[in-house]
Amino acid sequence: MRCPYCQQTDDKVVDSRTADDGAAIRRRRECLVCGRRYTTYERVEDMPLMVVKRSGASEPFNRTKLATGIRHAVTGRPIDGATVEAMAAAIEEELRAQGPDVSSDVVGRAVLDRLRQLDDVAYLRFASVYKGFEDLADFQREVGELQELGLRKLTDPKPPASD
Ligand SMILES: [Zn+2]
Repeated sequence: MRCPYCQQTDDKVVDSRTADDGAAIRRRRECLVCGRRYTTYERVEDMPLMVVKRSGASEPFNRTKLATGIRHAVTGRPIDGATVEAMAAAIEEELRAQGPDVSSDVVGRAVLDRLRQLDDVAYLRFASVYKGFEDLADFQREVGELQELGLRKLTDPKPPASD
């Protein structure tokens, strides 16, 4: 490591410990030429997460863009911004565990899985703009299942009114 004082590259490490909760290693170094001490940090290089589109082109994952897509789907629904942000963060974490390359289909499905548990309307909105379904039948089946559930709710007998 080049000494910041005299620019020479002869040094020894005099102390080494973890920093940032283990995310970095901090080393105290002593220059063997001028004798002064300085500190260096060693970290894992940020791993880019790449999204591979169906065309084969890839682009860096963009959490802001993902959150914008989700926010659009939940517009007017009882889902706040913090929930959307948390969802985007959780999806990013899940994708990074599968990375460094994930397909855009995997990204879309990760969103759909979560929206489905959260809100039927938001789920259908996202699904309708999302092009990742292998074929239209997938989507129609999903809609059919949801409609059936909705109808069942509507036709459930009401509890007898008490007098
Ligand atoms: Zn030096």
